[in-house]
Amino acid sequence: MRRRPGIELKSADQIRLMRVAGLVVARILDAVREAARPGITTKELDQLACEQIAAAGATSSFLDYGAGFGLPPFPAVTCISVNSEVVHGIPGERVLSAGDLVSVDFGVSKDGWHGDSAITFGVGELAPPDAALSETTREAMWAGISAARIGARIGDIGNAVESCIRASRAGFGIIAEYTGHGIGSQMHQPPDVPNLGRPGRGELLVKGMCLAIEPMVTAGSAVTATLEDEWTVVTRDGSRAAHWE
Ligand code: MG
Ligand code: MG
Repeated sequence: MRRRPGIELKSADQIRLMRVAGLVVARILDAVREAARPGITTKELDQLACEQIAAAGATSSFLDYGAGFGLPPFPAVTCISVNSEVVHGIPGERVLSAGDLVSVDFGVSKDGWHGDSAITFGVGELAPPDAALSETTREAMWAGISAARIGARIGDIGNAVESCIRASRAGFGIIAEYTGHGIGSQMHQPPDVPNLGRPGRGELLVKGMCLAIEPMVTAGSAVTATLEDEWTVVTRDGSRAAHWE
């Protein structure tokens, strides 16, 4: 494995293994979305994901995360963030209702390689503004992925994400203090991948880099707060948020 300073470059064979981990993540996220309906608790959704991780021969990338960083160990295999929760929501007794805007962030390790992805969806029908928020966030993720080319730079990704969100002219907030990241033999690796950026700035993108690109977007202000559980990130103004990775 060649290394740039702090950046793990993967061989084609290693990327094939990462793809397997990513497909496990995608399949389980689909199952969670299917199961999310009015009356179910976020903890029940987490349990469903937990069972499917075991069935896939994988392990959770999220469970107990943070223990080494002075945070309470994360107590679940998914982050489920509802409505004004932006990211890192802890699954629990919360009962989902029709019209809730739900983001599920989920990661596994399979054969030593990590996959990490997030989706946002509605419980039943979403109100049109919530649907637009999620759709713009998803489009921004794809804009960022399109900008991730050999020879481009990290700032090109952030600029593509930011430009896509600004182009919606909806006045959405773009979260700056949480970012995407390198991924591979660890879930979080250098470099950070911000969701705002200037073209041509930042780390050069080279063959073998694997990045998680994950815009977090709010319907109002991008100012956030963290709840007493030390994990759940919410919008200060109570506006709703979406997250795609
Ligand atoms: Mg994630
Ligand atoms: Mg991530």
